Amino acid sequence: MDRTLSDKDRQIVFNRDGYRCRYCGTTIPPFHVDHVYPWSHNGETSVENSAVSCQNCNSKKHSSIGMWPKPIGYFEKKSHINLPSMVLFILSIVLLYNSLDTVLNYPSFMLMGKLFGLLGVLSGLIATVVHIRGVDE
Ligand SMILES: [Zn+2]
Repeated sequence: MDRTLSDKDRQIVFNRDGYRCRYCGTTIPPFHVDHVYPWSHNGETSVENSAVSCQNCNSKKHSSIGMWPKPIGYFEKKSHINLPSMVLFILSIVLLYNSLDTVLNYPSFMLMGKLFGLLGVLSGLIATVVHIRGVDE
C-alpha cells in the first residue's frame, strides 16, 4: 500500500482543511499531510484518512492512535470576532440607556425612545448570531 497521497489528493486535503493544522489550528507552515489513523497501524492512505498537520503536531503525533483532528471549521469559529456586529450591539445598548434618560426628561418620547432602543439591541443581537452561525456554512 502507498504511504503518500498523490499530488492531486494532497491538494484536495489542503483545500478541504484550508491550509491550517487540523490539530492545533496554526496557519504557519511547513505542513504535512498526516495519516489520521496511523499508516503503521494499517491506516489507509486516502483523502478521508488524511489531515493537514503542522510540523509541531506531526512530530508530537508520530504513530500514536487517539490524537484526532478537529472538525473542519472548528478553529474559525473559536477565533472569530465579528467587530461590526459587536460595535452595533454596544452602540444600541448605549442608545437604550440614552432613551431611558429621555424617558425621565421628556415623557412624550417615552415609547418611541424605548422602541428604538430595543430595536437596536435586537438587530445587533440578531446580526451577531446570524454572523456566527454563518461561519458554519
Ligand atoms: Zn499543529
